[in-house]
Amino acid sequence: MKYQEILESICRDVQSLAGLGKQADYIPALAKVNPDQFGICIHSIHGDIYSEGDADVPFSIQSISKVFSLAIALNLMGDDLWERVGKEPSGTSFNSLIQLEAEHGKPRNPFINAGAIVVADILLEKLPSPKENFIEFIRELSGNPHIDYNEEVARSEREKGYLNAAIANLLKYHHNLNGEIEEVLHFYFLLCSVEMSCKDLAKAFLAFADHKTHFSYHGVDLTSSQVKRINAIMQTCGFYDEAGEFSFLVGLPGKSGVGGGIAAVYPMRYSVVVWSPRLNQKGNSIMGMKALELLTTKTRESIF
Ligand code: GLU
Repeated sequence: MKYQEILESICRDVQSLAGLGKQADYIPALAKVNPDQFGICIHSIHGDIYSEGDADVPFSIQSISKVFSLAIALNLMGDDLWERVGKEPSGTSFNSLIQLEAEHGKPRNPFINAGAIVVADILLEKLPSPKENFIEFIRELSGNPHIDYNEEVARSEREKGYLNAAIANLLKYHHNLNGEIEEVLHFYFLLCSVEMSCKDLAKAFLAFADHKTHFSYHGVDLTSSQVKRINAIMQTCGFYDEAGEFSFLVGLPGKSGVGGGIAAVYPMRYSVVVWSPRLNQKGNSIMGMKALELLTTKTRESIF
């Protein structure tokens, strides 16, 4: 397959969408990002790398970090994790409170904010040095020792994080949060603030694409079936209330973030990461969604 040529043509094709939508501005530090950037990178399980555009530029991975924290929580708790957080699609926006209230404080899945806040609580409680352990895990997955948190983004999100604070309070009320609300929220925002490029993320997501190779990074050991289940949750829950649309148009498991990134995997073939900050109404990258739709159309490769 001529992936490099295909990526070049995708880069040209998505230009017709340039300027549509806007970057997330409810996190003040993200509003400063130049919205007119676009990068894409494919990393095959054989080690071939193809990239175009701004694939080396680090960006705020935001909710893509929820895949990494889920991997650690599964390692720590095994199937007991599912007693605190579900694994069904939510069909609601990423920061919705209504469903959480109706379901008595058990979040639908680990990829909506409520679920990820519970996962952050578990990491805080069970890891010996949560902040260091989490970042070292990502550094090892991506092979890049320079990856780090952006404390300014985390702080700026906390300043305006009224909805996430409401979610944490509701979780606490329902006895599904063991830590102190402020501490858990701080850690959750920190996890979202990690900055990585398309190339870094593509390398890191290879571990999820290649589920037949033993997953063992920085003390996180997952079985092949646990890795497959993380992919299953990406497929059904990775795009907020647009998970169905992403399955319909693209047909790969993936996870998006409000920084404009999308990481996806074609199991046992490759990982692919695209980034462009302008988002649609549901919080997903407009050019990113289109690029991946074009990728699976032009290559005729998807899980379906
Ligand atoms: N830090 C963001 C929030 O909690 C993450 C949202 C996202 O990327 O979906 O609102």
